[in-house]
Amino acid sequence: MEISLKTIEERLKICAEQCGSKCCKSTQPVLSSEDFMRIKSNTDKIDWFEEIEENNEIIRLISKKRENNDCIFLTNKGRCEIYEYRPLDCILFPIFLKIKEREPRKYNIRWLVWYCLLSENVGIDTLKLESRGLVKNYLSSKPQYIFEYQTAMYKSGGYKKKHFLEEENLTIGNQE
Ligand code: SF4
Ligand code: SF4
Repeated sequence: MEISLKTIEERLKICAEQCGSKCCKSTQPVLSSEDFMRIKSNTDKIDWFEEIEENNEIIRLISKKRENNDCIFLTNKGRCEIYEYRPLDCILFPIFLKIKEREPRKYNIRWLVWYCLLSENVGIDTLKLESRGLVKNYLSSKPQYIFEYQTAMYKSGGYKKKHFLEEENLTIGNQE
């Protein structure tokens, strides 16, 4: 199987020029409280998020306020205006995860994918490996970030139409 790493710039070109930034137009990214605070302190826009309340639980989404319904942070060059502050949902895309804590620091993770030009060009294995590294770091330092992402994904319907890839058990803090 051929794995292409592709630089960030090459990936951005694929997304902006070949794909037309479809995922920044078709769904609203979900926000954990950490995503929210990070973006809030680095943007001067107002009305860039919306809140949905369900069973006394509030989830936040990046609002689509542009007339054409694109994400408010998508520039007319098809680039993300807040790329370095973008939410975890956007960082992981087109990879997704569902997670359960089986016992302290032991997790069951189901990996999912949305097939697109990026997964085709970079390779699902590479993207998943990168996501796994990121998720592992967060599970070591602030696991609530990953669980908030999951809650928001469930509530927003963000897992719909994603394809199951594989499942694994992950232990944090010990040799795997
Ligand atoms: S991640 Fe996939 S769907 Fe989103 S812009 Fe890139 S190629 Fe398109
Ligand atoms: S925040 Fe950026 S990466 Fe995420 S959907 Fe909006 S424009 Fe795309």
